Amino acid sequence: MAKRAKKIYICECCDAPLDSKRKYCNDRCEQIHLCMSTGTTKYKTKFVAPLFQKMMRAEWAASLDTMSLAVVKGAITRIARRVGQCVCVTCGTICPWEGGRFEQRLNCGHFIAGRGSILFEEDCVAPQCAGCNMYHGGRPLEFRIWMEAVRGIETIERLEVAKHKPLSRTRDELVEMRLNFNQRLKAALAKMKGNQ
Ligand SMILES: [Zn+2]
Ligand SMILES: [Zn+2]
Repeated sequence: MAKRAKKIYICECCDAPLDSKRKYCNDRCEQIHLCMSTGTTKYKTKFVAPLFQKMMRAEWAASLDTMSLAVVKGAITRIARRVGQCVCVTCGTICPWEGGRFEQRLNCGHFIAGRGSILFEEDCVAPQCAGCNMYHGGRPLEFRIWMEAVRGIETIERLEVAKHKPLSRTRDELVEMRLNFNQRLKAALAKMKGNQ
């Protein structure tokens, strides 16, 4: 009796044969396929940018430096936090890295509205509570005081030049970024867990 032919599976992205019932060779193929089907722009705003923000929040919260600087009533103030928490840079509210009441919900605040070349600029974002970020228009005056004190005027100047430069990213670049952000998020979560 003839041996039944083994069913062949192929990667939905690159058509490579797979040895078991899977859709893709690996995470990269899965992401490339996702990017092709959603379109590069939507992939960037829907999948890469939110992951970047989540990763940044997790990395800030995982920091072992438990003294944070924030602008409280116009003045730079030192505020203690625990690993797993962040301090809003523009009011000093201590926020859990994820969840919590609305006013304490941690946002990834943009010093300059993120578009084009500064969308994924780490120097352009900082921990902010939802109150400051959403109700108070990001508190630009306090944000600037914090940026000058913590990141320096050169960084501000660099970002202000960069915001005028449009920067389009290729599909491969975006996929690479998403895979990298995922790894960094995982590492930050592990670090947080190990230090709480
Ligand atoms: Zn593949
Ligand atoms: Zn705040």
